[in-house]
Amino acid sequence: MMMHKKIVLVFSFVTLGLIAQNNTSYWQQKVDYTMSVDMNVENFQYDGSQELIYTNNSPDTLNRVFYHLYFNAFQPGSEMDVRSRNIPDPDPRVQDRISKLTPSEIGYIKVSSLEQNGSAVKYNVEGTVLEVTLGKAIVPGEKVTFSMKFQGQVPKQIRRSGRNNKEGVALSMTQWYPKIAEYDFEGWHADPYIAREFHGVWGDFDVTIHIDKTYVLGGSGYLQNPDEIGHGYETPGTKVKAKGKKLSWHFKAPNVHDFTWAADPEYVHDKVQVPNGPVLHFLYKNKKEILDNWKDLQPKSVELMQYFSDKIGKYPYDQYSIIQGGDGGMEYAMCTLITGERKFGSLVGVTAHEMAHAWFQHILATNEAKHEWMDEGFTSYISTLAMNEVMKQNNPNSLKGMYQGYMQLANSGIEQPQTTQADRYGHNSAYGASAYAKGAVFLSQLGYIIGEDNLAKTIKRYYNEWKFKHPTPNDIKRIAEKISGIQLDWYLTDWTQTTNIIDYGVKEVVENNNETTITLERVGQMPMPVDLYVEYNDGTIESFYMPIRMMRGEKENPIPAMQRTVLSDWPWTHPTYDIKISKPKADIKSIKIDITRTLADANPNNNSFSQ
Ligand SMILES: [Zn+2]
Repeated sequence: MMMHKKIVLVFSFVTLGLIAQNNTSYWQQKVDYTMSVDMNVENFQYDGSQELIYTNNSPDTLNRVFYHLYFNAFQPGSEMDVRSRNIPDPDPRVQDRISKLTPSEIGYIKVSSLEQNGSAVKYNVEGTVLEVTLGKAIVPGEKVTFSMKFQGQVPKQIRRSGRNNKEGVALSMTQWYPKIAEYDFEGWHADPYIAREFHGVWGDFDVTIHIDKTYVLGGSGYLQNPDEIGHGYETPGTKVKAKGKKLSWHFKAPNVHDFTWAADPEYVHDKVQVPNGPVLHFLYKNKKEILDNWKDLQPKSVELMQYFSDKIGKYPYDQYSIIQGGDGGMEYAMCTLITGERKFGSLVGVTAHEMAHAWFQHILATNEAKHEWMDEGFTSYISTLAMNEVMKQNNPNSLKGMYQGYMQLANSGIEQPQTTQADRYGHNSAYGASAYAKGAVFLSQLGYIIGEDNLAKTIKRYYNEWKFKHPTPNDIKRIAEKISGIQLDWYLTDWTQTTNIIDYGVKEVVENNNETTITLERVGQMPMPVDLYVEYNDGTIESFYMPIRMMRGEKENPIPAMQRTVLSDWPWTHPTYDIKISKPKADIKSIKIDITRTLADANPNNNSFSQ
């Protein structure tokens, strides 16, 4: 009896400990989809039924739910159309093309019935969002079933999804089904489909697609009936006998937040097993001009999968598909759609980027509308490093392009903070540089602040703690803090919530009684720790490190072979800082701030002194 009491006590301490760590304890909704669609490949229309088991893990009672009806964006006068015709630098793929779609070319999803636990509910459509008023509220912890019938039409390919893309792929079926919106600690995320991507509820998908038997499919999930389907999915040696005009492709995708597929009657289908990893599927058009590139892509894709699994965390699914389709490159659960008529380097590059998104979006599912830089930026960071290795570029500064992209933005006059909602930037180009380049620099520069080893550990722990969840900016910041012992709130807020720039300079070098005083100045608004390198005429170099006081800690010496002096903290309020060197000025050859160039100093011209 005593033992039992002891166990109870231990458990309650553990629980208290967990609660004390977080301001609000993390929860997320769950949804399980069972869908069946019948595709008419003549007119690109499809009939669907959807049964959705929704679990309310929130502490709130829900009176309404929302669904995304993404295909409705491809209609004249939609939010996507009007926005594209009014932004100064529209996406060249969109421009005014939506406004010219005819009724047989538009996209739509029409809901013909919707029931909650067998009773009809009221709903109305507002553009790309279905607003549902529940007959009976869903209380915390409750599970309900929504049953829906819907009809869709695949739009002429404009953006991401569609029929007959410019490379002739018949069906790029992305964002194609009624998708319940995410509800989290911030409330509903029923964002209209305007330009940017998505945020969804984690769950299991069971999808059956009935389609003309000449079509070959690829997409999210695992094919359940490969020996019935054939098309290269069958067990080797199996004789596939397809009856009737159509095949029923049955997929299951566990623990994902989206389901995508593509289909074409001319797809070649290759499979490659990654050692200790997933099977890679390649689906591409049987066109002579691209065959060599798509064959050569396969071993590179194996290396990429291994690189990301090693640097971030093991790819957790048993398959990943690289599919020709879409309008560029776009990441989806367990697959990507990329255009395939590219030079080899570009084909590997787009594959690297989209595959990295398998981690930074489809495992670590940040809300892309709010934290676009965590998704595009982290992906750009890791895929750039991966390309340097896999393509043997041997570039010691492979992220230089990311820094240049950010510098251009910082000096452009159109920069907005990274916290800007992804669809509401004044310019598409400002969104792009902010999300991709400045987002990549966020991570790279974090390595400058906490040290490269700590950055590598941070990325791995971020994966382990946040896989299959929705991490926010604070979550990666907290992990970096716990790993390094350095406080980083100032970094997260200045970098992501303002457009303050970093600009440090060597102001003056003065000699007095055989002693030299180097005065540094902070010209930009954003404070950063400074690594200063002093080279003497005898060829020796030593470094001086000035943490900013708010860090409450220091990084390890980034170049252990070099003598480093850790100086007292530089409080951000102080515009200048003096360093005394007990040598005459004539002994100094040069003085440089950050020889590694990982500090995103927007004006490097004042960073050095030499004589
Ligand atoms: Zn991307």
